[in-house]
Amino acid sequence: MDSAELFAKLESSAPLSGSELSAILNLTGADDLTRLYALAYAQKLRVTGRKVFFRGLVELSNICARNCFYCGIRRGNSKVRRYRMTEDEVYSAADMALKSHFGSMVLQGGERNDPEFIDCVERLILGIRQRTGNQLGLTLSLGEQSPETCDRWFAAGAHRYLLRIEASNPALFRKLHPADQSFENRVACIDYLSSHGWQTGTGVMIGLPGQTIDDLVSDLIFFREHNIDMIGMGPYLSHADTPLGAAYPHWTPAFELSLKMIAAARLYLRDVNIASTTALHTIRPDGRELGLLAGANVIMPNLGDSSYRKEYNLYEGKASLDDGIDDCMTSLLEGIAKIGEEPAPDEWGDPKHFFSRVSSKS
Ligand code: SF4
Repeated sequence: MDSAELFAKLESSAPLSGSELSAILNLTGADDLTRLYALAYAQKLRVTGRKVFFRGLVELSNICARNCFYCGIRRGNSKVRRYRMTEDEVYSAADMALKSHFGSMVLQGGERNDPEFIDCVERLILGIRQRTGNQLGLTLSLGEQSPETCDRWFAAGAHRYLLRIEASNPALFRKLHPADQSFENRVACIDYLSSHGWQTGTGVMIGLPGQTIDDLVSDLIFFREHNIDMIGMGPYLSHADTPLGAAYPHWTPAFELSLKMIAAARLYLRDVNIASTTALHTIRPDGRELGLLAGANVIMPNLGDSSYRKEYNLYEGKASLDDGIDDCMTSLLEGIAKIGEEPAPDEWGDPKHFFSRVSSKS
């Protein structure tokens, strides 16, 4: 398919096929890319206008029971100083989210399935709800959990869950994870969340060793087939103290391909929320803004103390590790204003896709 045919199809707003998604991801010329991002941004404007939804990110703990081959805080990395925020520190972060008019916050951390952790998260959800008068949207990103745990956390008041598939090709997934992590279980967890009231997010790493354009097309199709409401995806960034990072020490991150994935997701899935991730900002100072201009509509500023942030290194070179929240916000708000976007103060910013899929079932 040549680019003239592709753009005629994109401008017609007709549903996209796998070969058209592939053609999008294979675009290279500067003019074609500018045109692609403009079309994706126009679709984003139709869904949420010029608004950017903020989620205050709290990295609860870098203690993880898993050993994913790409992740800097994997259980087997003995160089990491492990931490766990106190419950009071988490509540202070919730106060900060409210004061900063973020509308929503995300509790993220390494995966643990022990009763003490499950109880603690439930207490935190109830505490945040009570303390903030239910004013904050609450997202969890705490790995694979049992249906019972998901139900308890939902009943306590969390309503969004991010669980990245990382790679929708089962063979690639298996290369990224030890044998005790099952692709089928990950998918089952995502489907459980989606069918039990949660606004459900997933995502992938882009530009992994061994990943093909066809894999990325399959990722986009996976998002649609599993009726995903929120997408969080970004370039694979390596960490030397991981098996994957050690095997590919000079791996170049796929910045442009990541922007093309955001644009393709916006044009293909239309009304989902898409995050412009810290990984983009890590590669280029204006990476988050370029993500927004390619069709993303969510940013997750880190609310945690900078001493903890330094220990939550999923990959190396993570942006804004030393900056305080005020410095981060100043540069973020300036960057957003520069591209003509505006924050959506105090709005939860729920994904429209969630409401359309729920109403289509009723
Ligand atoms: S990717 Fe998540 S589950 Fe895997 S090691 Fe890192 S924190 Fe743990």
